Amino acid sequence: MDKSQNIFEKACRLMPGGVSSPVRAYRAVGMTPRFIERAKGSHIYDVDGHDYIDYIGSWGPMLLGHANPEVAEAVCQVVYRGTSYGAPTEGEVTLCEMLIDAMPSVEMVRLVNSGTEAVMSAIRAARGYTGRDYIVKFEGCYHGHSDGLLVKAGSGLMTQNVPDSAGVPEAYASKTLTAVYNDLDSVKALFEACGEQIAALIVEPVAANMGVVLPKPGFLEGLRKITEDYGSILIFDEVITGFRLGYSGAQGHYKVLPDMTAMGKIIGGGMPLAAYGGRKEIMEMVAPSGPVYQAGTLSGNPAAVAAGVKTLEILKAHPEIYTQAEMQAEKLEKAFLENIEKYHVDAVCNRAGSLMSIFFTKQPVTDYPSAASSDLERFKEYFAVMLAEDIYIAPSQFEALFVSGVHSDEDIRKTETAIGKALGQWQ
Ligand code: PLP
Repeated sequence: MDKSQNIFEKACRLMPGGVSSPVRAYRAVGMTPRFIERAKGSHIYDVDGHDYIDYIGSWGPMLLGHANPEVAEAVCQVVYRGTSYGAPTEGEVTLCEMLIDAMPSVEMVRLVNSGTEAVMSAIRAARGYTGRDYIVKFEGCYHGHSDGLLVKAGSGLMTQNVPDSAGVPEAYASKTLTAVYNDLDSVKALFEACGEQIAALIVEPVAANMGVVLPKPGFLEGLRKITEDYGSILIFDEVITGFRLGYSGAQGHYKVLPDMTAMGKIIGGGMPLAAYGGRKEIMEMVAPSGPVYQAGTLSGNPAAVAAGVKTLEILKAHPEIYTQAEMQAEKLEKAFLENIEKYHVDAVCNRAGSLMSIFFTKQPVTDYPSAASSDLERFKEYFAVMLAEDIYIAPSQFEALFVSGVHSDEDIRKTETAIGKALGQWQ
């Protein structure tokens, strides 16, 4: 811990909170973040020589594990030819074709650099297309850090218990209406009040930024129907679920087709790359085809594209990666449930494929209020034992645990033992 501690002290003098993104800080758990030196497969190594089993996976992208040799090789090949041209490349076209082939509702795409940009741009396209201003989002869902989406947001905002952000003008925030996840009546009420002014409704089809919360049967179908009835655009934020719940994302899994989709994380294979896409007539609103402006110096960066193309090629050729990740996640879920019962812990476990969360609350977690009812002191104590057992999980109750396709049986056994110790500590 000495090296991490020393670097962190310096970092705190130079960077807000000592980190480049708030979710990396260990404030909620009252500890010092580990500074990372390298990672390989399902393991991540800090500067003090600790070897952790990694269930953060860079917050979602690393479904193939860290430093996959084929992905690394694809990036290296490109980098020696130049890292950025600011001009079109064939690789971009290949990646866009792969995204369109995989995502059932996507007919045209634009590449960007982050999930934030993808969502922000999809919303701008929806507003341009409909000529309407309002959007609807769900309490506890996180869609990146653009102004209009930092309203009752999840992820780091929920961790800090400040779901809105300072610096967002009221005029922007007031265009964002919020509903309760899994509660179609709360959505209907908003649309009945002002549906003709609502450009888009955006949802994480499986919410993963208030911890993992699954859509109830009929919820996504209901959103599809309501938005259709009012001529509003349905946007699925598949930045986490895309290529994770399966190769065709949540839309393929639940068979509900949105008008627009935001993608990120896995599609960049660990490099900064994201995309938004959807129905052709909406995407044709985007410049230079249409009047909705959106641009980027590094968009479609060749090295990031190479990582994305190789990652998707591997996933497409090896569907067993999904089966493997889910099977390992199922074992962990079983370990959570058995220990919850054995030690009479007030906790529940939600899982969607290889995404999962344990919440320290008695009630089923189906929305923001039930997630927020979790006992954060308990989480802190649980986290401390897991970390001491070399299990690297998000330092927040309100984030997902990501299982990769390369977590070994040995990793799972060690994690099961850690879960037993963490949940048994209050006996
Ligand atoms: N949408 C969702 C569902 C996310 O989980 C995230 C980030 O975690 C984003 C959007 C923003 O993506 P980025 O951090 O790449 O800007």
